[in-house]
Amino acid sequence: KVRVRFAPSPTGPLHIGGVRTALFNYLFAKKHGGDFILRIEDTDSTRFVKGAEEYINESMEWLGMTIDEGVKQGGDYGPYKQSERREIYKKYADQLVATDWAYYAFDTPEELDALRAQAEAEKKTFAYDMHTRKGLKNSLSLSENEVKQRMEAGEPWVIRFKMPENTEVKTNDMVRGSVTFNTNTLDDKVLYKSADQLPTYHLANIVDDHMMDISHVIRGEEWLPSVPLHIMLYRALNWEDTMPQFAHLPLILKPTGKGKLSKRDGDKGGFPVFPLNWQLEDGIAAGYRESGYFPEAVVNLLALLGWNPGTEQELFSMDELIQLFSIERVNKSGARFDPDKARWFNQQHLVRKSNEELAELFQAELKERGHERENGYVSEVVGLIKERVNFVSELWEQCSFFFEAPVEYDAKVVKKRWKGDVPAFMTELMPVLEQLDTWQADVIKAAIAEQIEAKELGFGLVMNAFRLALVGGGFGPDLMTIAEMIGKEETIQRLKAAVE
Ligand code: GLU
Repeated sequence: KVRVRFAPSPTGPLHIGGVRTALFNYLFAKKHGGDFILRIEDTDSTRFVKGAEEYINESMEWLGMTIDEGVKQGGDYGPYKQSERREIYKKYADQLVATDWAYYAFDTPEELDALRAQAEAEKKTFAYDMHTRKGLKNSLSLSENEVKQRMEAGEPWVIRFKMPENTEVKTNDMVRGSVTFNTNTLDDKVLYKSADQLPTYHLANIVDDHMMDISHVIRGEEWLPSVPLHIMLYRALNWEDTMPQFAHLPLILKPTGKGKLSKRDGDKGGFPVFPLNWQLEDGIAAGYRESGYFPEAVVNLLALLGWNPGTEQELFSMDELIQLFSIERVNKSGARFDPDKARWFNQQHLVRKSNEELAELFQAELKERGHERENGYVSEVVGLIKERVNFVSELWEQCSFFFEAPVEYDAKVVKKRWKGDVPAFMTELMPVLEQLDTWQADVIKAAIAEQIEAKELGFGLVMNAFRLALVGGGFGPDLMTIAEMIGKEETIQRLKAAVE
């Protein structure tokens, strides 16, 4: 059975790179009738950030990715938070030492820093590995007695993986194809720390993936270098036959295409990189939700960051994505994030929403502006102008004149259109409109046209001036429809105000 996990560390707000990883896991799971698991990887207590776990849950919820198993949802493989699985890891760390796949090390952080500094001075880099481990303070070079003494004295220790020499490790990555590593280039990573009695990411991750029956590990490319260690760990624990398959997703690149999209890029570029707002010490990092994006649009745009359906189609619902998704169509090369395209996705999803749904979303702003109008009217307005906006928050600017008279007139349009015979014409037009029994676009239009003909004026000039009076500028949908919708009295009222 397909079982995949999204395994974020609660170290801050999720970045869209993380959300994209979650989405690809979700799509893959649902496509194959599998389970989507949310595991919280919180073994690094120094990087723990309050509120991050709730943020992750809320983001998933908002985007419509239903979690089958997780801290909140429960499940048969819990607990789903690593800090609640401490005892489990210790056992495997001990087992690795007992089977000579790992060893105790007592080197202090200061000692290691000094070694690093020394290497740097010699223009080298220090690695705790098969070449250096023999000379360092660990159970491979110290006597058994000394190790025992240090432990009994309560000296802090770590357990390090004993990376074997000159071994080829091969993986068949679902995205990147066959990748081979040689263990000679790898170091002896810390697997467990006595100080906080917690495993590091590598050990906890492998133990959990195994115990939770994870079938596929789909994650960001930055984890590819960890694959040989992970494979070695599966081997060392005798779990190689049930090892999950790996898929490493390409980077999401900055809009310029140069470098990885970072959390800072959003602030600088004026676009969100987070799903939801996140409170920073010195302000708020903008989220898609609060910036007015629809979750469907965000899902759609994220899906196309690194995946393509192989056709020209660009607009997808979550269900369609589930149908069409395949890891084989995930690209190897980085995917450039384009903020303009992101807005375009929102516009496309906005246009596809029913007028009624948009009207309901728009009502809050209308109320705030003091306009209590029934949904029917608001829906009609929205239907006329929705093609012109990317966000619900842009509706007002495009349609305020359906709710209130213009407070200002566009000076440029005034200069160009409100001249010569126009004001006099408008004054004479008012009683004509007043007399109309049916207030309908075509009737109004015919009446005005008749007047224009009688006065031998330019049709375009008059109509543009009429628009200026009703709308305040040279924009908006069909003018006669506007007149019909705001009503006879209001139309005449606005003409009067314009003449004055
Ligand atoms: N906790 C890791 C992270 O924050 C998980 C990586 C993985 O999926 O193996 O990305």
